[in-house]
Amino acid sequence: MRSALVLNATYEPLSVVSARRAACLVLADKADVIEADGTELHSPSLVLPSPLVIRLRYMVKVPYHRRTALSRRAVFARDNHCCQYCGGQADSIDHVMPRSRGGEHVWENVAAACRPCNLRKRDRTPDEAGMRLARRPATPRELAWVVVAVGRVPESWKPYLAHQTFTRAS
Ligand SMILES: [Zn+2]
Repeated sequence: MRSALVLNATYEPLSVVSARRAACLVLADKADVIEADGTELHSPSLVLPSPLVIRLRYMVKVPYHRRTALSRRAVFARDNHCCQYCGGQADSIDHVMPRSRGGEHVWENVAAACRPCNLRKRDRTPDEAGMRLARRPATPRELAWVVVAVGRVPESWKPYLAHQTFTRAS
C-alpha cells in the first residue's frame, strides 16, 4: 500500500496515511494535494490522482515534544539498519551498558548491532570490549516517527521534512 505524507496547514509534517486515505481528505475538501506522482487511484465511482504529499486546510495542534516510542523497529530506523560497531547489517539490539549490569532500556542506551558484534561484546561496555560506537545513541529527532511509519522516506517527502528540521533546529 502506498503512503502519503500529511502536512499541517503550517506545512509542518503531521502524519503518514495511506494514499487512499489522503485522496479522501482531498475529496472532502479538507486538504490539498501538494505533490502527486502522476498515477491514479480507482474506486468504483471515480478516479483520483494519487497523492504523495497533502496539506490540510485547517490547523491541527500537536504537542511540541513528541517522543518517538522505543521499539526494535524504531532503533533500526534511527541507526539506518547498520550495526553501530562494525557498520554491517544490524539484526539485533545491543544495550551499551548491559542490562545485566543495570543498563536501562532507553534510547540513550540502545544501539542497532549485528549478531557477531553482539556476541563479541557480551556483558561488557564498549570500552571493556575494545569496541567503538559509530555515534553516541540519542533519542531520535521528532521526525523519526515518519521514518518508523514507512521504513524509508520517499525522495518526494524530503523537502517537506527538511522544512521542519530547519525551523525546529534553531
Ligand atoms: Zn557488527
